[in-house]
Formats: sequence, structure tokens, C-alpha cells
Amino acid sequence: MKRYRNESKELKVMRSLGSRMDLSEPDRNYLVSLEKGYEGECKFDGLIAPYLDGRILLNDLLLEHKNTVFQLDSLLMSSLKIILFEVKNLEGDYYLERDCWFLSTGKEITNPLHQLQRSTILLRNLLKGLGISLPIESYLVFVNPEFYLYQAPTNLPIIFHPQLNRYFTNMQKERSFLKNHHYDIGKQLLSLELTDAPSFRLPKYDYSLLKKGIQCFACGGMYGELLKTTLVCKNCGRTEGFEPALLRTVDEFKLLFPERKVTTNAIHDWCGIVKKRLTIRNVLTRNYRLINKGKSSYFEGEISNSTD
Ligand SMILES: [Zn+2]
Repeated sequence: MKRYRNESKELKVMRSLGSRMDLSEPDRNYLVSLEKGYEGECKFDGLIAPYLDGRILLNDLLLEHKNTVFQLDSLLMSSLKIILFEVKNLEGDYYLERDCWFLSTGKEITNPLHQLQRSTILLRNLLKGLGISLPIESYLVFVNPEFYLYQAPTNLPIIFHPQLNRYFTNMQKERSFLKNHHYDIGKQLLSLELTDAPSFRLPKYDYSLLKKGIQCFACGGMYGELLKTTLVCKNCGRTEGFEPALLRTVDEFKLLFPERKVTTNAIHDWCGIVKKRLTIRNVLTRNYRLINKGKSSYFEGEISNSTD
């Protein structure tokens, strides 16, 4: 049993805004840190992948216990225990002084072990409330080989990049025999998941101020005009069929403006470069259900399974 990782909604929104408006410097840095975090998590997924036999891996769980929301990067369950991995993709030199973490420049950062302790306690209490009593171990994992931490005591629950393979190899030596109730716990955790992160740190944005257009799948630049059924990127020269590009652009519209209806006119305006409304209407009709309500009609759901 395995739950794959996707870009968070937050990262998708920030990426889209990044190419459709000028972000302030703190927002640009925030986007970079989200990209970096996601890159680190994907790297971790690749490293742990060969060691998952007899284990359940759940990624990116957003849970709540007694009105406190917490996020788990990676939860690994064997028949013996649950292991939490909080994945960090920091690079550069850092040092520790007692309980405080500093960049080599002397700037203090939030102690990542506190976040790990907090999620561990919340998960433990949540499981207790469900009558589940598997022991929990938790680790901070540094996946970037360019990260170094001076003055780190040896007893901290940290796995550094050069230790990861050895850690996983040893972990695998502990045999795990999953029974149905372990799968039930996995399903139960997934069913408790919050679908929306309640507190996105997003910049304010306004439809009228966003750049309209269809983004290139490869470089994120905007496509030039539509030539028959093909879009050509002026930036990187790649081409893409119109239909998948339009569906992706509709997804982006729905993500940024969940309160707006998907109509031919709305998408025509959002895409900017498509001359005929009919071209858009045809694709929408093929892929969504048309809902007629009095004078207004709009598209909803997806009728094909052509999206990834
Ligand atoms: Zn491009």
C-alpha cells in the first residue's frame, strides 16, 4: 500500500501566480522554498522506494487532532511500528547551540526538531483516540548532500544524507508481516485527511491583474498563437497539442478561482490567445458535463479519463 506524492495545492497556486503576476521578493522566496521542499520529498521517495516490502508508505498526510492541524511528510508503517520522516532539503553550513539552529552567517532558523516533536505527539494522541497502539519513531531527514550541521550531538533523531542507505538497509532487516488491521489503520488515516490546508500563505491576487494565456508544459512560459491544433512556445520552442494544454489551463483556472464557473466565455478570456470561442467550447464539451441552469450554462466535473 502506497500513497504517491503530488505537488501541494499551495505549490501549484504559487507556480501559477509566479508566471502570471510579479511576485514580491518574499513571495518569490516562498515559491523557491516550496519548490525546494517538494524536490527534497521526491528525492526521499526515490531513496526509500527499494525498501518498502511489507510496509505501508503514506505521503503528505494532513491531519487534525483536537483542532490542531499537522502535516506528515512521510509515514511508514510496518507490523512493528510507525516511523515518521520529516524531510528537509536544506543546503549549506549550519550549526547548533544547545537547542537553537543557526545558519553559518549567524542567522537563527526555526528548530526543525520542534516541528517533528509536535507532529509525533499529535499523531500519537490521534492514534490513541482511535484505539491504535503502535509505537512511533520519528526522524528528521536531510536529503541534500550539500547540507552540513556543525556541533550536532549524536543522540538527536536525525538521519543525514550519507547515513540514509545504511539506515534503510538496517530498517529492512526488521521483518514486517502486515495483517489486515494494518491496512485498516492506513485506510483510516487516509479517511481522516483534511482536503484543504486551512492556512495557505498566499499573496493576494486579482483576476483582472493576472496575465492571461496558456502556459507551456515544459518551461512555464506562455504559448504564442494557436496554429490549427498545436501550440508553440516562443520561449523554449516546444510544441503541445491544444486539448491537453487547454484542460491543464482549465485546471489552473479552477484552482485559482474555485468560486467561478467554467464557461466558454470565462475560459476564452483566461486563455487569451484562442481566437474562436467554438474551439474552446468543443474541447470543453468533450471533456466536461454541460450543466444548463436557466439562462446560464457552465461545465462541471470531467467525463473523460484522459487527464493524468
Ligand atoms: Zn516553453
